[in-house]
Amino acid sequence: MSASDRTLLFLLVLLLPAALWLPGYVVMHYPEQVFLLRSTPWYTLGAALLLSQVYQQGRVGFITLLAMGCYGLIHTRLAGPMIGPQAELEFWLLGLCAPLLALLLLVLPERQPFHRLGLGHWLLLALLLGALIGISQSGDWAMSLHAWLAPRAFLFMDSSPAPLLLVLWQLMCACAAWLVYLNRGESGDVAALLLTVTLMLMTLGFARPLIAASLFAVLGLALFVSVLEHGHQIAFLDELTGIPGRRALNLALKRLGRRYTLAMTDIDHFKKFNDTYGHDVGDEVLKLVAARLSKVKGGGKVYRYGGEEFTILFAGKTPKQCRAALEAVRQDIEEYPFMVRSSKERPEDNQDGKRQRGSGGGKQVQITLSLGVAQRSRKYGDVESVIKAADTALYAAKKAGRNCIRQAPEK
Ligand code: GH3
Ligand code: MG
Ligand code: MG
Repeated sequence: MSASDRTLLFLLVLLLPAALWLPGYVVMHYPEQVFLLRSTPWYTLGAALLLSQVYQQGRVGFITLLAMGCYGLIHTRLAGPMIGPQAELEFWLLGLCAPLLALLLLVLPERQPFHRLGLGHWLLLALLLGALIGISQSGDWAMSLHAWLAPRAFLFMDSSPAPLLLVLWQLMCACAAWLVYLNRGESGDVAALLLTVTLMLMTLGFARPLIAASLFAVLGLALFVSVLEHGHQIAFLDELTGIPGRRALNLALKRLGRRYTLAMTDIDHFKKFNDTYGHDVGDEVLKLVAARLSKVKGGGKVYRYGGEEFTILFAGKTPKQCRAALEAVRQDIEEYPFMVRSSKERPEDNQDGKRQRGSGGGKQVQITLSLGVAQRSRKYGDVESVIKAADTALYAAKKAGRNCIRQAPEK
């Protein structure tokens, strides 16, 4: 499970106490602060919206706005006991349409809320909320829609106007958002999943006082944390390969103790590889090499140093203790069957391309690495000199014919 999967799981679990425990607790212990809880969603959702703008996360921004719209509607029109078919109809329509709009926002091109190109998305939101209020206010028409829906809306609990079918629909939408997250893994997908789960929990427990306030307050917090996590990824993970980048390495280097070993690795003849197969194929190979290097054993942590160079850091280890692990990754890359097709050889016709890819067309190429290793010692006392020594050892490995490991001299 990746770090972002763990965060998502944590955020989903965070919603549960808001559904099960928080409303009753506030009503019992702090009845005079009920109004505070009712206004909390505006603050947490507002903070998530602001942060999503800082990181240019348009999808999260619009999904947060949708959440604000839903809460606004519930807060102003549906709070208190659900009396009358009009309120019920509004609640059902909101529960039906809001998850659908969240999914639609995942499919539509990403737009920033405070940019002129985002105007279409604003219209969509306004249309949904406007139509919803309009339909439920439209007298006879609303009554006949309610009369049609009510017998079909199989009641889940006596005390709740929540139809089981509505909950199932929301569960389906949540599953769809989860599938998109598994495929794409963007922060907008996390936001849609969080919103659909929130709506489902709210439908299930709508009879409980303050459930919407508690859930949307926590949803705002969860969205805020999820955007923050995205910011952390931008800062510390390399965009192409997804492994920790130079900034993460610089931080790790500051936290090292007195003993550590550092290996600098460089792909052999990579310029020629790019010239032969094209830069995009080179990028794919870099991703694969990064993924395989990251499997290094012996407590090594891998960073992309820059270009086609990677750094492997072994805290608390001597070169002797790391030798087997480094030899294993060198050999693993050497033996890995990289399948590539030169961009020049790629068929112009898209259908042909698909057919050839499907049939596994392509050429197997060998990629090799050279490694230079150095440890902190009396001779190489600070991080800069250890890196320099590992670089010199790497140069020696290149001179020795490449695809091998060389260690910096200790004396
Ligand atoms: P050597 O065996 O001596 O290392 O030969 P080399 O060709 O690998 O030489 P060098 O390390 O100087 O070349 C680095 C090349 O790596 C240059 C550039 O084309 C390629 N490269 C650097 N970063 C990227 C990247 O992000 N994507 C791709 N596709 N290629 C990159
Ligand atoms: Mg290089
Ligand atoms: Mg190279």
